[in-house]
Amino acid sequence: VQGARAVGLDIGGTKLAGGLVAADGTVLHRHRLATPATDTEQVLETITEMVSTLQSVAGDRTLPVGIGAAGIIGLDGTVRYAPNIAWVDYPLRELLEKRVGGPVLVDNDANVAAWGEYSCGAGRAARSSMAMLTVGTGVGGGLVDRGALVRGASGFGAELGHLIVIEGGPPCPCGNRGCLEAVASGNAIGRAATEALAAGAVPTDSSLHGLETITGKTVTAAAQAGDTCAIELVAGVGFWLGVGIASVVNALDPEMVVIGGGGMNAGELLLGPARVAAQERILGGGPAGRDMPPVVAATLGDDAGVVGAALLALAAVGSRR
Ligand SMILES: [Zn+2]
Repeated sequence: VQGARAVGLDIGGTKLAGGLVAADGTVLHRHRLATPATDTEQVLETITEMVSTLQSVAGDRTLPVGIGAAGIIGLDGTVRYAPNIAWVDYPLRELLEKRVGGPVLVDNDANVAAWGEYSCGAGRAARSSMAMLTVGTGVGGGLVDRGALVRGASGFGAELGHLIVIEGGPPCPCGNRGCLEAVASGNAIGRAATEALAAGAVPTDSSLHGLETITGKTVTAAAQAGDTCAIELVAGVGFWLGVGIASVVNALDPEMVVIGGGGMNAGELLLGPARVAAQERILGGGPAGRDMPPVVAATLGDDAGVVGAALLALAAVGSRR
């Protein structure tokens, strides 16, 4: 539809990012609000306020609304559980549709980010399939197959961060052990550095000794600045990311793998080792065997969720007609 627009929202634990998005993925207007994470009533009010603001900017109170939120979200837009907001079996889509004009679509934050990258970011080169992993505090996952998001039977699919890569391994926030998220997230970079420091395995001349706080972010920054020990720690996490990528490639055989999230500040320091580990582990990936699909950095940055959510909402409206 020419000139079609939609509202896209990305609901994080501390902030709510929103945008008015054109059908080609251009963000025409941006808006940001703090998320009052403790009070679900207030969260709903804040979301409603943002949707109204963006629809007003567009001069159309019936624009479709797409929402991406962290959590386990059913196909009907009910949030079964969310890690940052006290939503349990919370009918977010239904509640919002009573408060705002226009149809509402609610999906997992990594799913909408994957859709954004597939539609108009790094995944645009893919014809019909793509896998995305977001390496941030945790590890999010999104899959596109045959030109559509893979949601599974209930909407809970594509949770690539919870592929179990080390049975009995380090604890994951989900309650299991050894998930990809537990060993390949930004937090895992921070934890690897903390453990190396405690074990006396960090050379005395490393800048890690001078860091005020040890987090994925600070260790990644040290690696970018050339600290050899930090580079090795990031590469160690990149290895596990590659192990996860190999399993994803074996399961879906995507045309490309897109890596996003804050961890991608490490760029090739993370991606390089991930590619090597993945190539060594895909089925038929030996020296004379099958080619690895390209593993590339996401290009939409923080906009991926907002853009993907809006475009999904537009597509849903189109398919209803
Ligand atoms: Zn997990």
